[in-house]
Amino acid sequence: MVLAELDDIRPLFACPRCRSGLEADPAGAGAGAGLGAGAGAGAGAGAGAGAGALRCAAPDCAYHASPAFPDVAGAPVLVDFEHSVVRREAVAALASPAHVHRGADALPTPLRRIAKPPNRIAAINIDLLLRALPGPAPTLLVVGGATVGNGVEAVYRDTRVRVIGFDIVTSPATQFVADAHRIPLRTSSVDAVLVQAVLEHVLDPAQVVAEIHRVLRDDGLVYAETPFMQQVHAGAHDFTRFTASGHRYLFRRFEEIGAGPVSGPGTQVLWSVDHLVRGLTRSALAGRATRAAFFWLRGLDHLVPPDFAQDDASAVYFLGRRREREMTEAEIIAYYRGAQGSS
Ligand SMILES: [Zn+2]
Repeated sequence: MVLAELDDIRPLFACPRCRSGLEADPAGAGAGAGLGAGAGAGAGAGAGAGAGALRCAAPDCAYHASPAFPDVAGAPVLVDFEHSVVRREAVAALASPAHVHRGADALPTPLRRIAKPPNRIAAINIDLLLRALPGPAPTLLVVGGATVGNGVEAVYRDTRVRVIGFDIVTSPATQFVADAHRIPLRTSSVDAVLVQAVLEHVLDPAQVVAEIHRVLRDDGLVYAETPFMQQVHAGAHDFTRFTASGHRYLFRRFEEIGAGPVSGPGTQVLWSVDHLVRGLTRSALAGRATRAAFFWLRGLDHLVPPDFAQDDASAVYFLGRRREREMTEAEIIAYYRGAQGSS
């Protein structure tokens, strides 16, 4: 995995409260660390990681005074705690990468491929995105990157790309902890953003997309995948679903390069069978076992044409380029590509 060094991305940091630059906190070196800073903190945690706490450079900002931003496991926690579900007194709990391991990742490889087949749509779109990235060392930000997403592995293999990742927990795949509602990066500081299976887990997806728009350069690229017809996952941290049109409108200040279903009605029915069995048996294990037995339902996705799949997709994607102009109301109505007529 190729991740940018923390020291290299420090100049891009901005205060999540006031967006001023950050500086070393003279009073807070190492404050809040003490959780094995540096040791095993991952590929992104270079020699300078955890070397000193950061504070906002603006004297009148609340995050200029100590305690400013704590570290955890060598990663700065750049969160505006007064406006986040992340609590300052609980930052030590953010140090566990085990937090975000998804169920299927623990299975042996053949079973994993049945439980979670490779996401070919993501792989195709990430290839398009990487080819479109300009310059010798473009910067790509992964929002919610604690777990490397299915089908996006090429991002981490491309030695040309400077990858920055954050999440609300630490991980070997991220350099800092942050809340996506207030991304602690400077305006126009990245060339591309990847946000896969994340927007359903934030309280205000429109605000997160506005932040993605802000940190992207003028013609920067975004790739998003978000659930449409999926049951609740991640318990208390699952809030929203999007139709294809709703997802398009969420990215209304972006020009579309591509959009459509990630997986169709067969996958959706597979999820539903799993959760029906969970409900009937009161057992998540029984649900997962049933899902494994009915894995072939996914194959039916290939038999459903895109317009029908659009109305019944398990998840949808959007690949787009940043622009200033917003999509109009008339444009989003005309945008609909599903199988249902206007009558
Ligand atoms: Zn500030």
